[in-house]
Amino acid sequence: MATDRYQFDTQRLRAGYEPKEHNYAVSPPIYQTAAYDFRDVENAAGLFGLREPGFLYTRVGNPTVAVLEERVRTLDKAAGIIALASGMAAISYTLLNLAEGGGRILTSPYLYGGSTDSFKKIYPKFGIKFDYAKNIEDPERLAEEIKPDTKAIFIESISNPNTVLLDIEAIAKVAHEHGIPLVVDNTVATPYLYNPLAHGADIVVYSATKGLNGHGNAIAGLVLEGGNFNYQTEKFPQFSEKYYTLRDIDNKLRSFPEVFPDAPFTNRIRFNYLNYFGAALSPFDAYLALVGLETISERLSRQSRNALTLAEYLLKHPQVEWVRYPALKNSPHYGLYKRDFPKGAGGILSFGFKGTKEQREAFLNSIELFHYHVNIGDARSLIVNSPQTTHGELEAEEKKIADIPENLIRISAGLEDAADLIADLEQAFEKAVS
Ligand SMILES: *Cc1c(COP(=O)(O)O)cnc(C)c1O
Repeated sequence: MATDRYQFDTQRLRAGYEPKEHNYAVSPPIYQTAAYDFRDVENAAGLFGLREPGFLYTRVGNPTVAVLEERVRTLDKAAGIIALASGMAAISYTLLNLAEGGGRILTSPYLYGGSTDSFKKIYPKFGIKFDYAKNIEDPERLAEEIKPDTKAIFIESISNPNTVLLDIEAIAKVAHEHGIPLVVDNTVATPYLYNPLAHGADIVVYSATKGLNGHGNAIAGLVLEGGNFNYQTEKFPQFSEKYYTLRDIDNKLRSFPEVFPDAPFTNRIRFNYLNYFGAALSPFDAYLALVGLETISERLSRQSRNALTLAEYLLKHPQVEWVRYPALKNSPHYGLYKRDFPKGAGGILSFGFKGTKEQREAFLNSIELFHYHVNIGDARSLIVNSPQTTHGELEAEEKKIADIPENLIRISAGLEDAADLIADLEQAFEKAVS
């Protein structure tokens, strides 16, 4: 079925899956198999030579995982995609694919805690160093921070936990003027609220654990590519390497862009990093993500509405120092929100608790309805003291640069009745200060 012509709400239900190819099963089957029989010797040679489409081993491809891949690829109008076992696998394979052998990544200070901590502790051991841009919110000056061995710019479209919005079009322009791609972690926004590829980004990564699946029941990640960036330049010699495994029928060695001209980036991840580092998504988790994705539009628009209702309630509360949510008129990101997020600002907001550390802890201990844990994007509402948990790896100076004050409390709005959520916060505030 040619699903490209359908609108988003139709595609999230239908893209990438044809019941008549699967015994007319309405719900995509879970192909719980490690490997696939070859039809014959010729088929085996064709599959290994990448000349024939099909599956040979679930580490590098599985029909259930492929439905998820094709569905999200269609939603984001991407040229290529790969599903992986987690958001962290999506980020690490992307950055290794770009900067293997050494190089720098220019990044934003407003990032997921696991990204920031791994950028400090792990990547430098692989020769990959990070520069935290001082001008990420001032793209005209961002060019000054790109060095000769900078291989990419890495940012989040809606940052976690601060909900900072950036001018992605302007940042993409600066990146392209310097021959480097822009990578956007679009986890918080999900394909429903924002499409970074349509705004100039070259690579998009998701933790599908969060709003994309939206039910807090599986860990998954995705990498997508726009298909316009030219990786065959001096900056990325790895993309011009010719491999024996990519040889043609006459045994001529070929590079990834030669074999996969439309999607060299994600195919290089599949056949190098997924193949040999092995963070494969299980068919069952792909199935759960597919089921979750069926309701992405209703979930994200309701969560955006609930988040705004909570933000407006908190803004007026005497026990609240400040509220950060892009859809609030006093937000420094309100202009970008109005320009780029017509469907809402998502479910994540944060506020500063006004009071002592003991009162703040009593507040969290008094919460009854919200779940107190580190996930986001769930159908249920979640609350957490990020500076002491999800961003607890950051040292004091790093928290300052990331603008995460000690009294920050993050909320991930779910689908409950907003009145019940407000009543729960209210009773917890009362207990905290009584
Ligand atoms: C959770 C998260 C990740 C990591 O994803 P996992 O699926 O937990 O590995 C990466 N980026 C952002 C913005 C996240 O919220």
